[in-house]
Amino acid sequence: MVDLSAWASKAKHVVAICGGAVSGSEAAVLCAQRGVSALVFEQNRRPYGKIEDGLPRWHDKLRAKEYELIDGNLAADNVLYVPQTLVGRDLSFAQLRDDWGVSAVLLATGAWRDRSLPVPGADAFVDRGLLYQNPFVHWFNHYEEPDYDGPRYQVPDGAIVVGGGLASVDVAKIINLELYRRALSDRGLPTSVVELEHRGIGPTLASHGLSAADLGVAGATIYYRRRVADMPVAFPRDESEAAKVKVASVREKLVGVLEKKFLIRVEPCRLPVAPIEEDGRLVGLQFRRTELVDGRVKEVADSDHEVRAPLVISSIGSVPAITEGLPMKGELIDFADWDTGEVRGLPGVFGLGNALTGKGNIKDSRKSAREVTERLLADYMGLGDSGQLDADAMSGAHQGARAQAAAAVAEVVKREPLAPDRLARIAGLLEARWQAVGYGGDYRSWVAR
Ligand SMILES: Cc1cc2nc3c(=O)[nH]c(=O)nc-3n(C[C@H](O)[C@H](O)[C@H](O)COP(=O)(O)OP(=O)(O)OC[C@H]3O[C@@H](n4cnc5c(N)ncnc54)[C@H](O)[C@@H]3O)c2cc1C
Repeated sequence: MVDLSAWASKAKHVVAICGGAVSGSEAAVLCAQRGVSALVFEQNRRPYGKIEDGLPRWHDKLRAKEYELIDGNLAADNVLYVPQTLVGRDLSFAQLRDDWGVSAVLLATGAWRDRSLPVPGADAFVDRGLLYQNPFVHWFNHYEEPDYDGPRYQVPDGAIVVGGGLASVDVAKIINLELYRRALSDRGLPTSVVELEHRGIGPTLASHGLSAADLGVAGATIYYRRRVADMPVAFPRDESEAAKVKVASVREKLVGVLEKKFLIRVEPCRLPVAPIEEDGRLVGLQFRRTELVDGRVKEVADSDHEVRAPLVISSIGSVPAITEGLPMKGELIDFADWDTGEVRGLPGVFGLGNALTGKGNIKDSRKSAREVTERLLADYMGLGDSGQLDADAMSGAHQGARAQAAAAVAEVVKREPLAPDRLARIAGLLEARWQAVGYGGDYRSWVAR
C-alpha cells in the first residue's frame, strides 16, 4: 500500500502511461528504474491487454508467463496502477498533461479497432450475420468465466473468415474447435477446446476412428485475396529471390498442415465485393476472383460469384482505436517524430508498442520481419514440433517496448522534476480516482481479488 503523502514529499518526475499490458508495464518498470514515478492508467480491471483478450486462450503456458511478467512490472516500487480508467473518456489527454501536470504521457494503448470489411454497407450487418475478429476472440477467451457478461455468439457450421494472416487462422481455428468439440461431445466423447487444440482436430478424430464426414461438420473456410503462397504465415529470411521462392513453398506446406491438423479450408484469390442481404441480415458475400500479376492483385473480369454462409467473420487487421483528443492520420495515430514516438500537436505525449506501430500483429509489431522465425510462427499456429509457444516467445515485445520508452524517458529526465506542491495535487487527483473505482492502492491484492 503506497503512502501518497510520503510519495508527494520529495520532488520527482511523474509519467502517466495509458495502457498497462506488455508495452505499458515495461515502460512503467523502465521509468521506475530511472527514478521516475509511473502512473499506469488501464481501461480494464485487469491489465493484460492482447495477452488476455487477443491471444487465443489455448496458449496457456505463454499466457501464464506473460501475466506473471506484467504483474511483476506493475507491482514494482514507484509504479502506481489506476484501473478502470479509459484515458480519452474518464480523463482527457489535456487533463493529464495540464490539470494533473505530469512530466509526460506515454500511450501504450495497443491496436484494438478492427479494420472495416471493404464491402459497401458492411458495418450495417454487425451482429446480423457479420462479426469482427476482436470481439469474437474476446468472447472465445472469456465466455466460460462465471462472471462473463459480454455478448454471446453462436458458432454455426459453414462460417467464412475473410482474411489470410495469423489472426484469421486463429479465428478459423476457434470456429472449428467449437464445432468439433460440440460434435464429439454429442457422440459421448467430451473434450475441451484447449485439449482439442493441443492434440489437433484431425489427429483427435483419427484416434477415435472418425472423420469430419462422420460427424457431419463442414468447418470454417478462409477467403484470401492472394495465393496460398502469399499468406503471411512465414516470412523470407532476406530480400533475395531464393528466399522468396523458399518462403512460398514454406507457406504452402504450413497451410497444408493447418488443413490436416485443424481441418480448416483456404479459398485463395477471392476478393469480397458485395454483401448478400436477406431480411436485413448478411447471408453471404459476393466474391470476385483475382490473379497475381507482378506481385499485384488483379481482379478477373466476369468472375463474380456468390458464397452463402450463416456467418462472416472479418479478420483483416487491427489498428489503434480512435480516442478523443488524439490526432489521427488515416487509421494510425499521427506522430510528429517516429524516433521518439512524440504525437503531433501534443508535446510530451509519446506512443509505444502496438499503438506506435499501428498494427496488432506479430510481424508488423516487430522491427523486422526477419526476426520472426519460422519456428515461432509454426508454434503460434500450433503446427510446430514443440506444440506450444516457448514461454519467452514474446521477449522481443518486452525489449522493444522498453527501448521505445527509453527515448521518451530520456527526454523527461532532462526537465525539472515536479515540486512537492504539484505532486500533492497529483496525489489528491489519484486518490480520488482510486476511490471512484474502488482500488485500494495495492496492485497484488487487487489482482488477486
Ligand atoms: C508469440 C508472439 C510474439 C510476439 N513478438 C513480438 C515482438 O517481438 N515485438 C513486438 O513488438 N511485438 C510482438 N508481438 C506482438 C504483441 O502482441 C505486441 O507487441 C504486444 O502484446 C502488444 O502489447 P501492447 O501493450 O502494445 O498492446 P495491448 O496488449 O493491446 O495493450 C494495450 C492496453 O491498453 C489498454 N488501453 C487501450 N486504450 C486505453 C485507453 N484509452 N486508456 C487506458 N487504457 C487503454 C488496453 O485495455 C490494453 O490493456 C508478439 C505477439 C505474439 C503472440
